[in-house]
Amino acid sequence: VTLAEMARARGKAAGAVTTTRLTHATPAATYAHAALREWEGDADMPAAARAAGCADIARQLVEAPARTRLNVAMGGGRSRFTPVASGGKRADGRDLTREWAQGPRAAYVADAAALAALRPGRMDHVLGLFDAEHLPDVEDRPSTVPSLADMTTKAIDLLSADRDGYFLMVEGGKIDHLNHANQARGALAETVDFAEAVKAALAKVDLRDTLVIVTADHSHGLTISGYAARGTPILGLAGGEAGAGQGGRWQGLHHARLRHGPRRSQGRGAPP
Ligand SMILES: [Zn+2]
Repeated sequence: VTLAEMARARGKAAGAVTTTRLTHATPAATYAHAALREWEGDADMPAAARAAGCADIARQLVEAPARTRLNVAMGGGRSRFTPVASGGKRADGRDLTREWAQGPRAAYVADAAALAALRPGRMDHVLGLFDAEHLPDVEDRPSTVPSLADMTTKAIDLLSADRDGYFLMVEGGKIDHLNHANQARGALAETVDFAEAVKAALAKVDLRDTLVIVTADHSHGLTISGYAARGTPILGLAGGEAGAGQGGRWQGLHHARLRHGPRRSQGRGAPP
């Protein structure tokens, strides 16, 4: 049983918000039960698993009984919900976005304007998919894609309509992806975006009755190195500063202030 399902079983609302595909590891852990995290859509599964009756992760989100289904689900990954015929990746021909929206008091939105137009209290189930795959990096994000803070505040507004309270999981999932790719600047930009979402959430909730937990699911070896002088840009070079530590031993040697540690194994079964 997932945390979100436990909340739903107690009459509370529940939601998941991410910058990755909604079917990716962390958001999926709030609503799906699968033998393999890669089974995001039906085309990602072996025929034997489909024949044995296993449902892909996208289907599990949409087919959950209304009683336990997430009330808010936002992120990327539209391709796992829509059929090949309409540009998606589903092999079974189903359009799960349409199936979701056909439920009572349900809505599906695909861009920032439609998300902003949603009125809390009118819907019990909101699905927002803003890219076919992971959402674009913060640095390349078009205005049609909501920021993590936009999604988070809207999710809180929607979930707060339930008087019994709610559970919400918010993931800044691309901090990890860009660290895996050794892209320090992009990882920092995603971290700032995540911090803005935390700030926006804290401004919305009442900490007397709301527990906010901010954590990482695993870490990366991004380190600040060298003896840079005060005020040196974090993305610039360190070294060679007159009067720096080590008695000037490093003078003339320049190296990046930020450095990634060894990359984690990317073998099968250990994707980002
Ligand atoms: Zn990772």
